[in-house]
Parts: sequence; structure tokens; C-alpha cells
Amino acid sequence: MDCYLRYICHSVGVLEVPDEISLIYHVSGCPLRCQGCHSADLRNPAMGEVLDEDALLASLCRYRDLATCVCFLGGEWHQNALVGLLEVARSQGVATCLYSGLANVDDRIVEHLDYLKLGPFIPSRGGLDSPKTNQVFLDLRSGENLTHRFQRA
Ligand code: SF4
Repeated sequence: MDCYLRYICHSVGVLEVPDEISLIYHVSGCPLRCQGCHSADLRNPAMGEVLDEDALLASLCRYRDLATCVCFLGGEWHQNALVGLLEVARSQGVATCLYSGLANVDDRIVEHLDYLKLGPFIPSRGGLDSPKTNQVFLDLRSGENLTHRFQRA
């Protein structure tokens, strides 16, 4: 059973999740092959640093007065490890978010999420900031579709 995942880098940002300051992990090993992938370096599962529950807890302590959310860019392919990390995040009182290239994510992950982005990247449709996008960004607490928050009026 996997108990950790690997990430290429992490950062703190306000663009990935509306109204949240997110600690963002770029998880390595993405098994999808979206045409025009903007993050081909994320496909190699051996790349990056190990992120286990202790490491996440240490990062959350470091960013305690700043981060309001933990956002994983991928990682649904390591379900057990991801669920463990989401549980750690919630135990520390921060919101949780997953960016997935899939159209649906297993309920055993979804139950630990506050926000969820779904959908593969399709170059002709664009990302969340495109009015033609196939992707959606959901607030799972309210059920609201927040995709419009990424798009200019
Ligand atoms: S889900 Fe993201 S990282 Fe994975 S192949 Fe698609 S665009 Fe690339």
C-alpha cells in the first residue's frame, strides 16, 4: 500500500482556489496523456521529493499563519496516500482541494475534499480561464460551480 506520493515542487498561491491562500503541491506521476500537456515533467513517477503525512504536517506548521487551504495538483492515482494527506490537512483546520485531469474522482477521495477541479486539458477548449473550457471547478461544500471565477468578464 502506498503511504506517500512525490511532488515536483510546492508553492503558495491565491489563483488556484478562489478566496483561499493555498499551499500547492505539484504531484509527480500523472498517468494521463493530455494532448498539449502543460506539465510534462509531472508524468515521471520517480521525480520529486517524498510527501508523507509527517512532511505535510511540518509544512502546515510552517505556513500556519498564511495558508488556508492545501491544493494537490494531481495525486488521485495514489488514492491511499492522498486520502491520508487530506485527513492531515483537515485535522489542521485548512480546506482541501484537488485538481484532477479526470472527469470523475473516486468517492473515497471526494469525501475528504472541499474543492475539486475536474476535466482533462484540451488545447482547443483551454483551461479554467477559457470561456470554452471543458473543465469545471466545484465548491463541494455548497455544490456551487465556481468555474466563472477563473474567467474574465
Ligand atoms: S492531467 Fe495535467 S499533468 Fe496530467 S497529462 Fe493532463 S495536463 Fe498533463
